[in-house]
Amino acid sequence: MSATRRQVLGWAALGGAALVPGVAACGPGSPGSSSTGASGPPPSPSATGQATDAQSLAALALWTAYQGEQAGSYGIGGVLVDNATGRVLQTMPNRVFRTLPSPGEGAERASAATSSSGPPAPPPTFVQDPTAHGERQLASWYLANRARLGLPPAEDLTVVTSLDPCLMCTGAILTAGFRAGIVALDDFSGVNYTGKGTFADLPEPLRARALDSFGYYRVDGVRDFQGSKAVAYSDTPVEQGTYQQCSDVYSQSADRVRAARGTAAKPPSQLTNPATDPESVNVRRAFEVVYPAAFEVSVPDGRRPTKAVYDALVGLVASTPGSTNAVGFLDPFGNLIVAATDQPSVSPLNTAFALCARAYAQTRYALTERTITAPVAAATLTNPGYGTFVFLRAPDPYTPEGIFDYGAYGSTLAAPASPFIPSAFQYYELPPGVSERDLQDVVPALPPLYSQHLAMLPQRVVERS
Ligand SMILES: [Zn+2]
Repeated sequence: MSATRRQVLGWAALGGAALVPGVAACGPGSPGSSSTGASGPPPSPSATGQATDAQSLAALALWTAYQGEQAGSYGIGGVLVDNATGRVLQTMPNRVFRTLPSPGEGAERASAATSSSGPPAPPPTFVQDPTAHGERQLASWYLANRARLGLPPAEDLTVVTSLDPCLMCTGAILTAGFRAGIVALDDFSGVNYTGKGTFADLPEPLRARALDSFGYYRVDGVRDFQGSKAVAYSDTPVEQGTYQQCSDVYSQSADRVRAARGTAAKPPSQLTNPATDPESVNVRRAFEVVYPAAFEVSVPDGRRPTKAVYDALVGLVASTPGSTNAVGFLDPFGNLIVAATDQPSVSPLNTAFALCARAYAQTRYALTERTITAPVAAATLTNPGYGTFVFLRAPDPYTPEGIFDYGAYGSTLAAPASPFIPSAFQYYELPPGVSERDLQDVVPALPPLYSQHLAMLPQRVVERS
């Protein structure tokens, strides 16, 4: 057993995942238990974590990353720590994917397919919340609990993450006001994907804030400290082995997740329209629970929202006290299947887009999870990239909440949208002081996931009556 692995398991033994009293620790299992046979105890929800240096935080982030990987999601983990005391307030693994209960009638649980030779296939997994990255969950947890738990000001806290934050999590970290201490890099979707630490991918006002608050720990033999010294334990290094494991646990999980994702959805040509199919009553009912007007509006071409969609979104904002924006999702058949307003009084991260994307994924997951509804879910629902997200008002990419939405859109699509124009990212109204051109011009600088792989294209709706 390596020194690093001992340290990682040591955290488990010490109850390193825990936290503020009353906060449940997250995720099953212990790091690496399936591959090594080693088995540490599950985290104790009542113990408190205490860091002493960057290495102990990196080891805890790695341990948390293993929790995500063991649960069938991406192997990425985040730790929220008080800079002054080293007290660990919370940890969160990535929870985008969740293991389905068992392979059953769901025809699309193809990732469970076993071969006659080789190791047994991992249990099937499915997207349950595309926004459930560790750092985003830490930001949401902090914003929801800071008053009740008397948590320190955000600028005195650091999110230590096993992997460089994506655009969504960068937006979440900047919205909350945290520092961010980073272990491994990600040259595909990380905000520091170039490794230069310039944040040239971010629009100007956000770049300055990232330079002020993001720091990349020194790894002996790999790199010097880079970025803001305001992060927790910025003068101490992370061991090379821990750094490498943070990178490896992510890469391995990403390969598996991408393989599963490729088999998890049908193209629209193989789907049945849930609005008209008599067998789809459970699908309609499930979406009506989260959006009572589900399926009431339908447009002939799902990529060409009409005034009826605009009216539905305006009506939703008008009937939701405190809301300022709404986002709807048109499925490939043009059904307005789900819509949500923002909840600024609850959390600035409860954007209309995040809630809409989450509602679609969670409803689809719930239908897929149940043996009785899995077949109809697989026959009528697909990856959101085949549909269209329609914003009443586009996100402002010069604000943390706006770049959060850009990133959340990228995380939700993950695989490229169907290549039909118009785009899967449309809006009716512009943010104040922002032009159509501005919304598109920020995209080419973004990390490759957003600029190249997804080729994000915010487009204004060409209104039709
Ligand atoms: Zn993220």
